[in-house]
Amino acid sequence: MSFSVAIVGRPNVGKSTLFNRLAGKRLAIVDDTPGVTRDRREAPGSIADLDFTIVDTAGLEDAAPAKLESRMSQQAQRAAKKADVVLFLIDGRAGVQPIDRHFADLLRTLSRPVLLIVNKCEGKAAIAGLGEAHGLGLGEPLALSAEHGEGLSDLYDALLPFAKDRDRRDEEADETAEEPDKSMNLAIVGRPNVGKSTIINRLLGEERMLTGPEAGITRDAIASEWLWKGKKIRLVDTAGMRRRANVFEKLEKLSVADTLRTIQYAEIVVLVLDAEQMLEKQDLAIARLVEEEGRGLVIAVNKWDTISQPAKALRKLEDRLEASLAQMRGVPTVVFSALTGKGLEKLMPAVMRVHAAWNKRVGTGELNRWLAPLLESHPPPLNKGRRIKIRYMTQAKARPPTFAVFASQPTALPESYQRYMVNAIRERFALQGVPIRITVRGGKNPFDKDRN
Ligand code: GDP
Ligand code: GDP
Repeated sequence: MSFSVAIVGRPNVGKSTLFNRLAGKRLAIVDDTPGVTRDRREAPGSIADLDFTIVDTAGLEDAAPAKLESRMSQQAQRAAKKADVVLFLIDGRAGVQPIDRHFADLLRTLSRPVLLIVNKCEGKAAIAGLGEAHGLGLGEPLALSAEHGEGLSDLYDALLPFAKDRDRRDEEADETAEEPDKSMNLAIVGRPNVGKSTIINRLLGEERMLTGPEAGITRDAIASEWLWKGKKIRLVDTAGMRRRANVFEKLEKLSVADTLRTIQYAEIVVLVLDAEQMLEKQDLAIARLVEEEGRGLVIAVNKWDTISQPAKALRKLEDRLEASLAQMRGVPTVVFSALTGKGLEKLMPAVMRVHAAWNKRVGTGELNRWLAPLLESHPPPLNKGRRIKIRYMTQAKARPPTFAVFASQPTALPESYQRYMVNAIRERFALQGVPIRITVRGGKNPFDKDRN
């Protein structure tokens, strides 16, 4: 059953871009004649299997600045009237503007749920804007890049309850219907012949399959669902696997594009290595992609049955990991033989640990209590004779853990010091196997209510 979603926000935050992204096709927005109200724009939209109606209540663009406020309140009221949920966009690069605050105040007075979306969050550029967005009092902000399609899985998660609400209302609430927990998206990647299919067959073979390989989360990915200790796991793969599933032929070479897409749809990635050829260039390239895409990583060394000197092989692996993947220090590594099954039972527990780390939220209080002694024992360096002061730190988001550091002379805080902080955070909060992002910015405490 469909529900409706309205997109609101000041001009230029990316509403049309998001509209197009969700509508899945390019609507000719540039053709909109100025002055002609786009008030009635509606389109069927979707993210993966979640269908809804998008209502674009735009019209602010044409407003003279003096009229902006009254237009905004009209827009917000219309949105609330028409939609089950309102997506309130702000521009993460520009940060929270006074007009955004005004809008937030308006939206709070309406009787509709609002999801606060911080757009233009591709890369790391806008992460600080996320911290600020907390201060709008509209709950947890969601990082998105409408233009690059990043953050859509988070948006999916955030919208899912509204679809369910609607279903419930429509079906007059089936009391027995259990709220299924969310499944975890897992990808198993690696060079051809390392044993991915063997692993998958063993994992799936031993568990109750919920759904077979079928068109899943997106048009170009497939997913199989299964239960591991009661937890729903969705194994995602893109075209590469589908081709394999359909025809019994080996893909001779690794398609980087397929691997990249698979990684993008996953939350946690298992990188499978062949025990006899560990961490070749391609393996490292995949590991780096996982890091860049902000996913959790588990390294799985398969074919351990072929190794005659396991201790030596392990040492070699550790050395290479330390040398080549320093940015993800301490990645959980499991060794096993998918052929015999020996050791494979360690894989899923490692995946679940990384998943927990990836989702981890460190409270702001805890974080800053930890930060204070760290800064004392290892203060940031001087810049042009003045000590760089770190004032405050918050976890802007999870998935992956992302921290905003508020400092004097923010641009002067050296990379090396940021790396030091990342490593310290990883150790203290047990964030092994997940990328940790840090952005540094100047300014005041974003949680400070008496900000003006
Ligand atoms: P609207 O006025 O709110 O409908 O905003 P538009 O969708 O027209 O976007 C305004 C500008 O922001 C355009 O130049 C877009 O290309 C750009 N934009 C939209 N989304 C993103 C994004 O996710 N990242 C970046 N960097 N730019 C974006
Ligand atoms: P994929 O291309 O990564 O999916 O690899 P496959 O699962 O098709 O495996 C490639 C080859 O490696 C097959 O001949 C498997 O039987 C073999 N293989 C897979 N796992 C193991 C293992 O743990 N030990 C050994 N010795 N061979 C394995």
